[in-house]
Amino acid sequence: MRTLASQVSALEGKTVILQGWVLARRDHGKIMFLDLRDRSGVVQLVGSKSLGDAHPEDVITVTGLVKKRPEAMVNEKIVSGTVEVEIQEITVVSRARELPFPIDTDGREVNEEIRVKYRYLDLRRPRMAHNIRLRSKVVNFIRNFLSNRDFVEIETPVLTKTTPEGARDFLVPSRLQPGKFYALPQSPQQYKQLLMVAGFERYFQIARCFRDEDPRRDRAYGEFTQLDMEMSFVTQEDILTLTEEMFTTLIRLMFPTKHITQTPWPRLSHREVMEKYGTDKPDLRRDKNDPDELAFSWTIDFPLFNEQKDDDFFYGSGGAKFAPSHHMFTSPHPDDIPLLDTDPLKVRGLQHDLVLNGFEVGGGSIRIHQAEVQAKVFDLIGFSEKQKQEFSHMLTAFSYGVPPHGGIAPGIDRLMMALLGEPSVREVMAFPTSASGGTSVMDAPSAASPEQLVELGISVATLVNPKQGGGKAVYERIVGDIKALKLAFEPYEHEAVRTSEDAAKVRNTPLHEGAKALVLFADEKPVMVVVPGDRKLDMKAFKALYHVRDLRMATPAQVEDITGVTIGAVPPFGHMFGIPVYMDAAVGANAHVSFNAGLHTHSIRMNEKDYEKLAKPTIGEFSKALE
Ligand code: ASP
Repeated sequence: MRTLASQVSALEGKTVILQGWVLARRDHGKIMFLDLRDRSGVVQLVGSKSLGDAHPEDVITVTGLVKKRPEAMVNEKIVSGTVEVEIQEITVVSRARELPFPIDTDGREVNEEIRVKYRYLDLRRPRMAHNIRLRSKVVNFIRNFLSNRDFVEIETPVLTKTTPEGARDFLVPSRLQPGKFYALPQSPQQYKQLLMVAGFERYFQIARCFRDEDPRRDRAYGEFTQLDMEMSFVTQEDILTLTEEMFTTLIRLMFPTKHITQTPWPRLSHREVMEKYGTDKPDLRRDKNDPDELAFSWTIDFPLFNEQKDDDFFYGSGGAKFAPSHHMFTSPHPDDIPLLDTDPLKVRGLQHDLVLNGFEVGGGSIRIHQAEVQAKVFDLIGFSEKQKQEFSHMLTAFSYGVPPHGGIAPGIDRLMMALLGEPSVREVMAFPTSASGGTSVMDAPSAASPEQLVELGISVATLVNPKQGGGKAVYERIVGDIKALKLAFEPYEHEAVRTSEDAAKVRNTPLHEGAKALVLFADEKPVMVVVPGDRKLDMKAFKALYHVRDLRMATPAQVEDITGVTIGAVPPFGHMFGIPVYMDAAVGANAHVSFNAGLHTHSIRMNEKDYEKLAKPTIGEFSKALE
């Protein structure tokens, strides 16, 4: 029964039912105008004010008569601009509160954390809605283009084993095999190669990839989407030609205002671009102010290896001299195979990077398909026997008849960012992580409950194993965590102290600023309670507040068992030991907190709010003055 805004102009004289959101309301004397927005666009409604009090962003259902607008009133900016709908009946289906930010602007003036927190509202913004819809169309085009060319779309596992692309892995603990972990794939690289062994010959997937790397404007934190492709019996030339044809057609059909600087896309050797532009992703636009210019290029003839750096996070990192320039499955140039033994840094790889307006929007290669060459690369990048074992399934698979193969993986987020001229990939993702790594709308990462951790057979304490390293390990973990979050802190080294009073004295910090961490058993479960140095725990208040029947202090031996730290040096970070933290509200009244950080001789002073960020305590009132 429902009519869309985009359909009404053809329905003059008819009665229609419209449903959507109130975009705007204008009152003129007794008359009100409402703009109704649905997925197809906007339509103007007009009626007597007495019909009700619909307000912006309320959801309404309207029955009304479609009427032609007088010539002078035609609004070309909306899909239904030649008509308006005279309201006969209007129902407010659901009310909207005042929005946390305006959505009729392009949104760039709004703080991004807030936009991401209320992303479902941010996505009502025409710019964002347009970006997301266009992205869907682009993906749909790609699916059709490749399916028509015999490609098979195949999903590969997300819970898997490490597939290194040079970043840190995300790990997922296994419940069925406690103590073991899945890794989220940094790409489907190994599976797509295995699909070539399986004989599919042409594979693609709109694949989610996970890499624990710092966010940048061309890289959201954590995950991104790429068009992952692989083909058998192909040359590098085939891969480049197909990719070029696909994107050229896409742009011609879906971005008609855009123009491509140079076709065929220039292919530049790595050495040439480095010499000429000082980067392997040159921006070859002729006019950088032209929003419609798209300068694609290929960078090829990369060296197969770089010298290994600290931030090469794949297995074998650190020990060896060489790191793969692309990834460890990239084939050396056949002419250069002898150099693997003599001068590995001179070996060229059959790698190709796709560059658009100065961004790397994709990369790929012809793969190694000879087990002996793969084994040699494993050696050169410093794999131990154990690490080689981890990838032995590839060598095994290659022993059953492997076609020569290769592929590429253009990044969908980056491509959309460049095509839409957006300043960040987050503007083309529905639910991106915020710049600081929090998820959209939902508050992840968040703490797991002690019950969940037990069920998984892990305890966060294994990060700081109380049986290993003791207070020193705890201290290092705290400093590491603080630094990882880029928080400010003051470390102190002082004579050994055992009480809050002595600690405050040697540190020369006020007693009330001290965060005293006590370990207790609440109904048999260990908990940590944090109170200011000049106050003590009110056991009765705590029990009442948290409905605890039995509450008792842990003995010094139990404290050491749980934390690995001797009493008096326990830091207020129960989460490191897998126990929940309850913080007295009085701690939060201080601008700073000071505490012994695992060692009697080491303290840390930091901003109280930063402390809460780290320790994620439950906050309540349960302290009283020391008598
Ligand atoms: N696996 C590569 C990547 O994700 C792409 C490829 O080699 O096809 O960057």
